[in-house]
Amino acid sequence: MKVLKFGGTSMGSSVAMLSVKRIVEKIKGQKVVVVSAVGGVTDELINASKKAVKGESYIDVLNYLKEKHNQIVSELFTPSVEVKLQEQLEVIWKELEQLLKGVSLTGELSTKSYDTISGCGERLSSSIISALISNSKLYDSREFIKTEKNGNGHVVKINPTMQAIGELKFSLPEVAVFPGFIASDDNDENTTLGRGGSDYSAALLAAGLDADKLEIWTDVDGFMSADPRVIKRAYCLEHLSYAEAMELSHFGAKVIYPPTIIPALQKQIPILIKNTFNPEAPGTLIDKNTDVERKVKGLSSIKDVSLLTLQGNGMIGVSGISMRMFKALAIENVNIILISQASSESSISVVINSSDAEVAKMALLNEFEKEISRKQINGVLVDSKMSVVAIVGEGMKHTSGVSGQLFHDVGKNGINVYAIAQGASELNISFVVHEDDLRKTLNVVHEAFFLSQYQAIHLYLAGVGTVGKSLLTKIQRQAERLLKVERLSIRVAGIANSRQMLFKDRGLDIDTALDKLKEASPGNIGQFVDQIIENNMSNSVFVDCSASPVVAEQYLKLLQNNVSVVTANKIASSSDYETYKKLKTTAVQKGVKYLFETNVGAGLPIINTMNSMIQSGDKILQLEAVLSGTLNYIVNNVSAERKLSEVVQEAKDKGYSEPDPRIDLIGKDVLRKLLILARECEYPLEEKHVDITPFLPEEFFTEESVEQFMARLKDYDEAFEQKRKEAEDNGKILRYAASLKQGKAKVGFIEVDENHPFYRLEDSNNKIMLRTDYYYDHPMEIKGYGAGADVTAAGVFADIIKVVNL
Ligand code: ADP
Ligand code: ASP
Ligand code: MG
Repeated sequence: MKVLKFGGTSMGSSVAMLSVKRIVEKIKGQKVVVVSAVGGVTDELINASKKAVKGESYIDVLNYLKEKHNQIVSELFTPSVEVKLQEQLEVIWKELEQLLKGVSLTGELSTKSYDTISGCGERLSSSIISALISNSKLYDSREFIKTEKNGNGHVVKINPTMQAIGELKFSLPEVAVFPGFIASDDNDENTTLGRGGSDYSAALLAAGLDADKLEIWTDVDGFMSADPRVIKRAYCLEHLSYAEAMELSHFGAKVIYPPTIIPALQKQIPILIKNTFNPEAPGTLIDKNTDVERKVKGLSSIKDVSLLTLQGNGMIGVSGISMRMFKALAIENVNIILISQASSESSISVVINSSDAEVAKMALLNEFEKEISRKQINGVLVDSKMSVVAIVGEGMKHTSGVSGQLFHDVGKNGINVYAIAQGASELNISFVVHEDDLRKTLNVVHEAFFLSQYQAIHLYLAGVGTVGKSLLTKIQRQAERLLKVERLSIRVAGIANSRQMLFKDRGLDIDTALDKLKEASPGNIGQFVDQIIENNMSNSVFVDCSASPVVAEQYLKLLQNNVSVVTANKIASSSDYETYKKLKTTAVQKGVKYLFETNVGAGLPIINTMNSMIQSGDKILQLEAVLSGTLNYIVNNVSAERKLSEVVQEAKDKGYSEPDPRIDLIGKDVLRKLLILARECEYPLEEKHVDITPFLPEEFFTEESVEQFMARLKDYDEAFEQKRKEAEDNGKILRYAASLKQGKAKVGFIEVDENHPFYRLEDSNNKIMLRTDYYYDHPMEIKGYGAGADVTAAGVFADIIKVVNL
């Protein structure tokens, strides 16, 4: 025999009820069907009762409820059946109306009235479904499920309930229908099993009748790894042990009402969670077996809780404090969700529902009045707006590293943990975070344990010029592979130019993002960054593809808020050493990344290579490099036939140089790159420490406009040709190079012969030579295109991937 429970959504419309009918009628053998009220009805009944007690009009609510049921009935039945059914329902409506009237007149809402009113929904829905399912008989659960008072609510009296249900065993028809949720006490007064209690009704019936199986039919495919409304990538779990299901539901997984598990566990009745709207899905089986393949099965959370802390050095070593604390709370019926005490015993924290916080605080202040006046206890601290997050899995038992990974990932994302509790059963690790961080926490944790099929990274791109655009194209092209092979979902969650910004947490459609940005809301970089911080998404990465100083100024704030920064913009790392160092140390402190590989040599792996060498104990002794593609192009193309000014003009026209070629020719760009490299080699150099000879003598940089400069440049053609010729006559060529030797940094021309590695360096190539402890006689060389939007974007992309540490 099976007990099948259908929840509110499964009863939510005539169409849903027809699915229920089909499901029930398809199952062979004896069936007990337990139903919730039509979806949303219990809420509205409670709403009506609250209006009534305040003397407000509840008629609209009542009419709405009647209409809702009438519509379902008229859609499901022929007129003759409908009339009979309506007579049945009318009895319930009458009773409800009378009750509400009474409450409204007296202005009093007793527990009894409240329970009777809120339980009407199940009586209505069970009457309807029973009329719909062939050969079914309707029972009244109140005759079998017995409760007694406990605190503010009721608890089930197990023995009489089991006995009453057990007596039904041999007289049940093929299909017995029971309303869920409702019960009665010893005086036959109406009670309920608490919100969500229909699951429990079904479990009690299953236990009392020794059913073979308890099926909970709802609106999701099964028990999911996390609340699917919060974690879109939550997936359905095939199996859970009773203990796991109990922990998850206790910590907020609403899919099953927590007490439900107990009767099923006691009688070892397997529970199957199924989807009324997708009956083919296998669902989730909950039984006594444990499978520990996955250490963490799922996570859940409770919102609207407060952290109450009793603190004081006078508590250390004193026995009885916690007993008094818990007793004081128990007297006030305050339910404790989590307890945490430091081993120093100087504080005890408990998590309670926020609605109890005021009462709880007063209770503790009273209880510890004496200790507080003697300053042995500092007082009672209340942190409201908290949430509890729990990870659950029997596989955590006796395995190390779970909490390590958990708190590493949580910390890396800048989430502050207020209290932690792990039971000795090691089935559950729970911790308290601020409610503003809840969504992020759930995402981070879900990903940390690969509960997700993939990990998500949220990019915020500033600057959509040629590099930014090329990056977007590359992301789009790679997205599918990264998802499939690396299980990484890259989402461009925001983009901005200097005037506008556009956001979408789940990722912008790259095809249309740039067009949409044109119509997007105005916003400057400061607002863009504030919004990124406020959005508080997991694994956030800020990507700077601009060349703007105002963007560079934002890095520190971003890093301080646990947002990684990947930048193609050299301004920050080449400004004063203090700024550079602060950014680096902040990133380390916050556990995020600050990456700028493309600042030197575009996509060439220079900084990464140096970092790896240093990390593995090698020492960079000398560094020599050609770091400007533009200048190298110019040097390579000037000849006896082609003058310097001609080649510069060409480089400018072809877009190889900056629009103002002076920026390249003054040598600043090379200097900045060298500074960055030197700093990465741990030399705290400033610009003033670099010995620099510009490409042209200083006086050529005094002109106002680019045109004037270009005209003036012709005056230098001859001198430059002479310099070139001299080198050539000695079998050498010129290179504009940077070097770092014994901590001394230098930028300027060098002459190299054909044995020098820089001799053959075509076109606009860059090259860097690293002489280290390990690479001394034959230095390491890295060579390739060191400029261009495409290679730069590729380098930025590589840095982004590095942030997630695939
Ligand atoms: P019913 O009315 O059928 O009893 P509920 O609304 O009480 O349904 O519970 C089902 C809902 O629980 C789902 O629609 C889902 O939004 C929510 N839920 C929360 N956590 C989980 C979880 N871990 N797995 C599945 N559903 C969950
Ligand atoms: N109808 C009740 C509620 O909404 C009980 C249930 O659906 O389980 O709480
Ligand atoms: Mg439910």
